[in-house]
Amino acid sequence: MTDDKRVALVTGSTSGIGAAVAVRLAAAGIRVVINSARSEAAGRRFAGSLPDATYIRADLSSEDEARRMVAESVAHYGRLDILVNNAGTTKVIPHPDLEAADADVWREILGLNVIGTWATTVAAMPHLRESGDGVVVNISSVAGSRPAGSSIPYAVSKAAIEHMTRLLANTSGPQVRVNAVAPGLIETPWTKDFTAIAALVRESTPLRRVGLPEDVAESVYGLIESRYTTGAVLSVDGGAHLL
Ligand code: NAD
Repeated sequence: MTDDKRVALVTGSTSGIGAAVAVRLAAAGIRVVINSARSEAAGRRFAGSLPDATYIRADLSSEDEARRMVAESVAHYGRLDILVNNAGTTKVIPHPDLEAADADVWREILGLNVIGTWATTVAAMPHLRESGDGVVVNISSVAGSRPAGSSIPYAVSKAAIEHMTRLLANTSGPQVRVNAVAPGLIETPWTKDFTAIAALVRESTPLRRVGLPEDVAESVYGLIESRYTTGAVLSVDGGAHLL
């Protein structure tokens, strides 16, 4: 099945930011591939609630799974124009507790956030090039550039994503643009217990509120449509990066 409608693959899109991105892209008439590592039934239900979407289960901490997900997306829709690398993981470890951030923690977080993003992007790149108007949007974090975030390995993984964004942008034009968004605290299942940080955000950030998944989705869509922008990291944090 091939026609003029663009196709987006949004990783980790059964909840939170990824789900909001999928809804926003669907509202713009873009066909969407929904992905998660688990919760297949919920993923299928969510895809069924969108005008034109399909669901592919794949654990992106495995390179093989990442490649299979991209291949199945292209097999299903016949093209791939947009990749949103949103799937991510963390462990909450206070930054001074160095011993707790052991090598297994580093491997788990970098394995999904960095290597999973890389493997998915590499598999998608030939199809994005073929699109001629291909675009990648990576989901970083304010922790990627500020001394913040749920753990040091998580913050470092997001710093890596931001530099990966610039390096890939430098080699992927003119057919493919590569950008990132760096959200601050966003209300999702991931942050439901972050009450102390939420209070701080409401008190001290310029926009005085916690972000919504829809705030990030709007910026992701904006970058997708920003045809003279590549290698950019857009803060979507209510000004938290200024603190
Ligand atoms: P979430 O828990 O709601 O969503 C995470 C998604 O990733 C889920 O759909 C989950 O199924 C998927 N996922 C997890 N492990 C996976 C794997 N191995 N393979 C495939 N999919 C997997 O969390 P969220 O807050 O929406 O986070 C989404 C992204 O936004 C993450 O990359 C996170 O680092 C980033 N982020 C979140 C915040 C925030 O405050 N919520 C802030 C900055 C950045």
